[in-house]
Amino acid sequence: MVDFSFIRKDIAKRTVYIDGEVIAMSPLRIGVGRANLDPTSTARDTLLKDPQGRPVIPGSSWKGIFRSTGERILRDKGLEVCSGIGGDNCLEKRDLSDEFQKLIKNNVNGALDMFWKKTCLNCKTFGAMSVIGAVKLADSVASHYTLGVRTIIAISRTEGAVAEGALASVEFVEPGSKFSFRLIGNNLPNYVIGYLVRIMEQIHLGLSQVGGQKSRGFGFVQFGKMKFTSVGSEKVGDEDKEIKVTVAEGEGSKFFEQMKPFKEAFDSVKTSYPEK
Ligand SMILES: [Zn+2]
Repeated sequence: MVDFSFIRKDIAKRTVYIDGEVIAMSPLRIGVGRANLDPTSTARDTLLKDPQGRPVIPGSSWKGIFRSTGERILRDKGLEVCSGIGGDNCLEKRDLSDEFQKLIKNNVNGALDMFWKKTCLNCKTFGAMSVIGAVKLADSVASHYTLGVRTIIAISRTEGAVAEGALASVEFVEPGSKFSFRLIGNNLPNYVIGYLVRIMEQIHLGLSQVGGQKSRGFGFVQFGKMKFTSVGSEKVGDEDKEIKVTVAEGEGSKFFEQMKPFKEAFDSVKTSYPEK
């Protein structure tokens, strides 16, 4: 009998928190809705802010960045992974979505068994279809920040030419600005904690960017003072290795050193999923 704790939402074997701060190393821009996709329609007032006017990196943006950065890591490790975008998720691409929906209604253990065997680590960690992920990323709110405005030349996406009315002003968060960061994980095995830390490390090293205007060099961030806390079991599931670290603290690269046992658990794990 496989231990499904990692994908179960009805038990609390373990809760982990990664709290800290994110520092903008370059201009950073999280726009509102469509404006984020179309540089010709950006305007001063489209930077995403909370009701107090503080710039925000929404949890949904973090989730997208974590998922796509993780995708690269898992492929490098030779593991099968889906993008989670549109129909490209593990259940839909195997034509199992209808069967899965039926199982959820009549046979929860059967549904868990299918979800365990047929989905990749990203689906289990960040969610797929009607199954919520094991990780929640909170909205990051700026605590210390300055705003700037830059005039950019808008290039038409389709023509590759300078668009008409080509100058647009783009509001952004200046380098050095600081945001809060919080990740909460439910029933995460140690190797999954290691996986998330590897993702954060890639962001910290500038291998993934946050927000819009990436090609203009926006969106580089680093992690500042960080703290890891774990409450509950020291091991989750059959494939996991026990690690007796319940608290780890450090700033930037020091934090990533502190989390080494978890990263090693991820590097050496042999997962049985997804089945071919
Ligand atoms: Zn998947």
